[in-house]
Amino acid sequence: MKQFKSEPIEMDYIIAEEIGSGQFATVRRCIERSSGKEFAAKFVRKKRIIGSRRGLLLEDIEREVNILKKLNHDNIVKLFNVYDNGNEVILILELVKGGELFDYLAGKEGLEETQAIAFIKQILLGLDHMHSKNIVHLDLKPENIMLLDKETQRLKLIDFGLSRVVNTGSDIREILGTPEFVAPEIINYEPITLATDLWSVGVITYNLLSGASPFLGDTKQETFANITAVDYFFDSTHFSDLAQHFISNLLVKDGRKRLTVDQCLQHDWIKQNDSYLLSETVIQLANNYQPQLINIKARNRWKLAYEVIKTCTRLARPAGQEENHHESINSLVNSFPNDFYNEKQV
Ligand code: ATP
Repeated sequence: MKQFKSEPIEMDYIIAEEIGSGQFATVRRCIERSSGKEFAAKFVRKKRIIGSRRGLLLEDIEREVNILKKLNHDNIVKLFNVYDNGNEVILILELVKGGELFDYLAGKEGLEETQAIAFIKQILLGLDHMHSKNIVHLDLKPENIMLLDKETQRLKLIDFGLSRVVNTGSDIREILGTPEFVAPEIINYEPITLATDLWSVGVITYNLLSGASPFLGDTKQETFANITAVDYFFDSTHFSDLAQHFISNLLVKDGRKRLTVDQCLQHDWIKQNDSYLLSETVIQLANNYQPQLINIKARNRWKLAYEVIKTCTRLARPAGQEENHHESINSLVNSFPNDFYNEKQV
C-alpha cells in the first residue's frame, strides 16, 4: 500500500537552509508554495543494505510517522505531510523556531524554580496526551524538547523516532535512548512501560534546577551503574523541599512506584506555580490588548486596570486560599466592558 506521497517534494515546497540534524536525519526549513507558510522538513535516510548502520529501516520510519499521526496536542510537534523520494522519507512538521531546550540551558547554572516548573508542566501536559494513547516517548531529553519561539516560553516535544505504543500484554524490552536519561528498566532489559518516560522527567527536572546531570559518570558504564543503583544526591542550594520530593518520587527504580503523569500534575511542586502562571497570563492578556487600549475611553481603561490588579492580588493569596483559576480568568474577561472588544478607536 502506498503510504507516502511519491511526487517530488520540491513541487509543493521550497526547501531552504538546514536547521538541525540527528543520527539519521537532516532537518531543513521549507516554505509551502501554495500558502507561503513555513514548515520543517525532516529528511530521514532509509537503510539501503540490510545490516548497514547508515539509515533506518522503513518500518522504523513508518512507526515514527504513525505515532505522530495519532498525536494532536499544543506541546507536541505536529505532522502535516509525508513524502518518499526513494532514498529518504521526508516528514513535513510544524516549524519550531525557538531552538532546543538544551541550547537554552547551555551555560546556565540552573533555572529559577518558577521557570523550571513552567517548563516541566508543559512536558507533563504533552506526556499526558501521549500516555492517554498508550504512547511512550522513550527519548525525552533537553535536545528533544524545543521552544516554540524565543519570546513565549512554550515547549514542544519532538523526535518520536524511538517512541512505541505499549499495550498491556505485550512486552517491549529494548536498549535505546541516551545513557544519562534512560531508566533502570532499559539498562536491565526489563519491560518498558509508560513509567519509563517519568524517570526521564525526573532527570530533566534535576537538570533544569541545577544545570547538572544526576547520574552522569566518566564513562557510559559508570553512568549505567549510577542509574541502576539510583545513586544521586541533592545539594540544598538548587532544590527546594518540594522539588526534592517531586524528583525523588520519579527517580524510583520500580516503575510501578513512580509518580504517574496525573500524579505529577497534581503534585504540590507543580501546582504551586499555577497562580504565578495565571498572573503571567493575566498580564499578557492585558498587554495583548494594549494597542486597543490606547484610544479607548478612560473609563474602560481604568476598569480593566483595576480588574487586572484585583485578580492578580486574589491569585497571589497563599496556597489553599486561592480561587479556581479558570473562574478567575473568566470573571476577569467577563468583567471587561461589553463594548470593549468592538469599540471603535476614537
Ligand atoms: P536523533 O539522532 O537524536 O534520534 P533524529 O535524527 O531523529 O535525531 P530529530 O531529533 O528529530 O532527528 O531532529 C534533529 C534536530 O533537528 C533536532 O534536535 C532539532 O534541533 C531540529 N528539529 C527537529 N524537528 C524540528 C522542527 N519541527 N522544527 C525545528 N527544528 C527541528
